[in-house]
Amino acid sequence: MKKISVLLATNTPKAYNYLMPDDFESEVGTFVKVPFRNRELMGIIWDQSLEKIENSKLKEIIEYYPSFKLSDRKLDFINFFSRYNFTSLGGVIKLFIPHPYLIEKNKSIKRYKLDKKNIDKITITNARKTVLEFFENETKFFTSSELIKKTNVSSSVINKLIEENVLKAVEYEEQNNTDKVYSKKFDLNKHQTKAANNIINSIKNNKFERFLIDGVTGSGKTEVYFEAVEEALKENKQSLILLPEISLTDSLFDRIKVRFGFEPSMWHSNLSKKKRRDIWQDIYHGNSKLIIGARSSLFLPFKNIGLIVVDEEHDHSYKQQEGIIYHARDMAISLASFEKIPVVMVSATPSLESVLNVKEGKYKNLVLPERIGDAILPEIDFIDMRDEEYIKNQWISEKLKAEIKQALSRKEQSLIFLNRRGYAPITLCKSCGHRLECPKCDSYLVEHKFNPKLICHQCGFSVKPVNSCSECNSKDSLIACGPGIERITEEVLRTFPEAKIATLSSDNSKDTHKVLNDMREGSIDILIGTQIISKGHHFPLLTCVGVIDADLGMANGDLRAAERTYQLLHQVSGRTGREKKPGKSFLQTYFPAHPVIKSLVEGKKENFHNVELKTRQINNLPPYGRLASIILSDTNSKKLIEFCNRLKKSIPNSEEIIVLGPVPAPMTRVRGRTRYRFLLKANKETNIQKYLEFWISNQKKPSSIRLTVDIDPYYFL
Ligand code: ADP
Ligand code: ZN
Ligand code: ZN
Repeated sequence: MKKISVLLATNTPKAYNYLMPDDFESEVGTFVKVPFRNRELMGIIWDQSLEKIENSKLKEIIEYYPSFKLSDRKLDFINFFSRYNFTSLGGVIKLFIPHPYLIEKNKSIKRYKLDKKNIDKITITNARKTVLEFFENETKFFTSSELIKKTNVSSSVINKLIEENVLKAVEYEEQNNTDKVYSKKFDLNKHQTKAANNIINSIKNNKFERFLIDGVTGSGKTEVYFEAVEEALKENKQSLILLPEISLTDSLFDRIKVRFGFEPSMWHSNLSKKKRRDIWQDIYHGNSKLIIGARSSLFLPFKNIGLIVVDEEHDHSYKQQEGIIYHARDMAISLASFEKIPVVMVSATPSLESVLNVKEGKYKNLVLPERIGDAILPEIDFIDMRDEEYIKNQWISEKLKAEIKQALSRKEQSLIFLNRRGYAPITLCKSCGHRLECPKCDSYLVEHKFNPKLICHQCGFSVKPVNSCSECNSKDSLIACGPGIERITEEVLRTFPEAKIATLSSDNSKDTHKVLNDMREGSIDILIGTQIISKGHHFPLLTCVGVIDADLGMANGDLRAAERTYQLLHQVSGRTGREKKPGKSFLQTYFPAHPVIKSLVEGKKENFHNVELKTRQINNLPPYGRLASIILSDTNSKKLIEFCNRLKKSIPNSEEIIVLGPVPAPMTRVRGRTRYRFLLKANKETNIQKYLEFWISNQKKPSSIRLTVDIDPYYFL
C-alpha cells in the first residue's frame, strides 16, 4: 500500500492522506472514492505532499477510476477559482463532481462495431445482410437500440449477432468524427462575416482571446457565434454556450437543431440521474461537441474545449449568489485563458465591465450596428406620468391604452412589462397603518391572487390571505397598495375585454413554453409579464411595448441600479419590431430627464455609457475600482455584533484598501438571522483576496456565525 493525498469533494480547505494499492498509478487529478466520517465521498488525487502519518492510521480508498482524470489545465483553473473567489478547494472540486454517480460505470451504454473475422462463421440472412451493409460506410460505433432504429431489423437479430461475436462491444471512447459538419445557414451580411472571421481565426490558432459581439437586438449575433461553433466542430473541438437562464435554452436548442442537424447537450438541474450521467460522460469522452447550459456547465469535464460563448453577458443571473459565490462570465473567461481558447461575450447592452475592457483594448469589439433585413430599431418614447390624471386602481396611462388599442385594431400584439410578481407589493391596514411583513425577514408580504397567498419574496415564506389586521384586529381593513402584474392583468381585462390575454412570471413558469409559443404564433393579443419576457424572445407580430414603471429598478440605489435598469428597458423594448412591422416602446416615468430614460429615448447607448462610467470612475467603483463584501449572520444578534466589533478592531492597516463597516445589512433580518456587512474598496490591481486571508482566516469565529465573502459583489441588500 502506498500513501496518497486526496482532495475531497466537500467543503474542506485541505487534502487528506489515504492508502492505495502499490500497483495503482497515483497520477494527480485521477478520481477516487474514499471513506470520510461515515460517508463515501468522491475526491481527486491532489498532490504528492504527504503528511507524516503512519500507514496503520490511514484508511484505504474505496474505488479508483483510472479512466477519469482532470487535466493539469483544469487543476490550474481549480486552484485559481478557489483563490479568486475566496472559497475552499474542496468546495470547488464539488462543483466539478457534484454527484458520485456521474462517474460510475455506465453499463447501459454499450456501443458495437463489426468484427469482420467472425462473419464467415454465420449464415447470412436478409436481416443480417442489412446490418452488415449498414456498417460498410460507417466508422462510428452504435448502441443496439441505435442499430435497430437505423437498420430496421428486430432486436433479436442484433442480439444474435452480438452473441455470435460479429458485433463486438467497444470500450467507451471517443468516436472517430469523420462526419461532415451539417450546416444550413443564411448568407451572413458583411458585419456578421467580419465578426465571425475574427473568432474563427482565433479558434484556428488556439489562442486565448476575448471578444465582445456588441450588436443591437435582432442584428444576428446568434448566427455569428454559430459560425464560430461550426469552425470548432470542423476541428473536432467542443463548444460551450452559456445562457443566463434555463428558460432561454429551449429556443436555442431548436435553432441549433435546424442549423447543425443534431441536438446539443443541455445541462440543467432538471435532468434525470441517468441522463445527467450520460451527458457528463459524453462530454468527458469528447462525444458531445456542443453543450448549452447555465452557470454550472462551466464545471463539465470537457475533453477538448475549443470555444466558450457567454450569451447575454451583461445578465446578473450569471452571478451565483447561493453556496459558492462566483461570477460565471468572469470564470468563463478564466477557464478560456487556462484552456487557451477564445471566449465570446454577446450582448445588445454590454456590461460596463465589458465596455471598459473594450475601451482599454482587452476585448476585441465586434459590432453589428443594424437589424437584419428591413427591420428597424424600435422607437422608444416616454410617457410623463406627472401629466397623467391620477385615477384610483389604474396604472396604465390613457396614452398607452390608446396605443394598445391601435395595435389591436391593426391585429398586432402588445407587451406590458412590470418587473413585479403578484398582485400588490404591500398590504396595509387602513385603521392603524400596519403593513403585513414576513415574520422572519425585513420584507413585506406580497399578495398573490391567481394562487391566493401572501408570499415573502425574500425567503419564500407564505400564508393564506387574511382579512383582519394582526395589530389592531380591525376586520376588512387591509388594502392592497401598488400594482404587481396580476393587478395590471385585472386592469387590462377591464379595459380590453375582447382581447386575448396572457400573463407570465416565475409564478407560472411551467406555462412558459406554451405562452411564449402562443405569443410567437400570434394567438395572444396582449402579454403581461415580468423580466422573464424581457430577453431573447422573437415575436414577429409584436409592435407595441409598454413599461408600467420605468423608474422601479432605480429605487434600490446600489451601484449598478442605473445600468441594470438601462439594460432591462432596452431589452424589453428590443422585443418589438423585429420583422417587417415597425415597433414602438413606451416608458411610463416620473423622471423623463434621468440619464437612463434620456439615452434610451434618444437611442444613444454611448451617452449612457459615458455618463455612467464617469460616475463610477470618480467614485473608484467597478469597473474602475474593485469591491468585496463580507456578510455575517447569526440568530443571536448580540453575539454577532460582538464578533463584528472584534473583526473591526483587527482590520489590518493598508494604504490600498478601505474597509467600511460593520453596518447592519439593508435587509437586516432574513430567515430569522440578523445580518451585518463589511465592504472593502480597492483599486483594480490590489490583491484583495490576500488581504482578506491575512485578516479573517485566523479569526476564531463562534460556530453559529455564518461568514460569507463575496468578491465583486452584485447584491448589496
Ligand atoms: P440577435 O441574436 O442579435 O438578437 P439573431 O441571430 O437571433 O439576432 O437574428 C435575428 C433574426 O434574423 C433571426 O430570426 C435569425 O434567424 C435571422 N438572421 C440572422 N442573420 C441572418 C442573415 N444573415 N440573413 C437572414 N436572416 C438572418
Ligand atoms: Zn390595523
Ligand atoms: Zn421572509
